[in-house]
Amino acid sequence: MTHLMNVLLYCRPVRQSGKNLFLADNNMRITFILILLLAFMQTLPASATVCDDWNSLEKSIRDSTIDSNTARKKVIELDRLLIDSFAGRTGNQEVRFPVKGYGPESIGGRHGNDFKPSGYNFYDGNRHGGHPAHDLFIRETGRDALVKGTGKPTEIVAFADGVVIAVNQSWEYPSPIRGGKYVWIFNPESNRFYYYAHLAKTLVSPGDLVKAGETIALLGRTGKNAYPKRSPTHLHFM
Ligand SMILES: [Zn+2]
Repeated sequence: MTHLMNVLLYCRPVRQSGKNLFLADNNMRITFILILLLAFMQTLPASATVCDDWNSLEKSIRDSTIDSNTARKKVIELDRLLIDSFAGRTGNQEVRFPVKGYGPESIGGRHGNDFKPSGYNFYDGNRHGGHPAHDLFIRETGRDALVKGTGKPTEIVAFADGVVIAVNQSWEYPSPIRGGKYVWIFNPESNRFYYYAHLAKTLVSPGDLVKAGETIALLGRTGKNAYPKRSPTHLHFM
């Protein structure tokens, strides 16, 4: 496409029989270029906009600056757009444990009983109840989120393939935001939303396509309840 446009832009008009033909040629050329540009824009993914829209909608829901009926309608609308924009672009259904170097032994509670979906409503934002998530605890000496022995940060990887639809890249004590720094990833094949919270650093942006196992963040202790020293370092994974 770029090559074709260069050819069209830089080739000289053929002056065959005077000025009128030259102008006609030029106009035709401009029209043709415009048509090509429009066609090219059609092929550009609407994806970036959809993800940015989801990113800002998520903040509005979190901060309760949107009523839940309007929010619901928007979520349904954006869900459809996300599937339309990304289905087939993230095909792999393989999954990876989201805390690098760890496995199911790090899951909090007994036999997964930490997972308590009852009382949770996404539209309650930061005031939500329930805990439809697993807390994945790391081995550490201090409350520093660093890998024991190496002193390196603990990497958080994508559980499944998907597209990044929301990120909260900054959080400072005493912000009341419970997730702290977090990432939302959508998998269009399963229509599932994954939420990774209490991060030290986010490494992805809305619109990024990620593969299962790809590093998306470093684990931290951000978030209203994860920050105090009494809380062992963990990933909140929903
Ligand atoms: Zn949790």
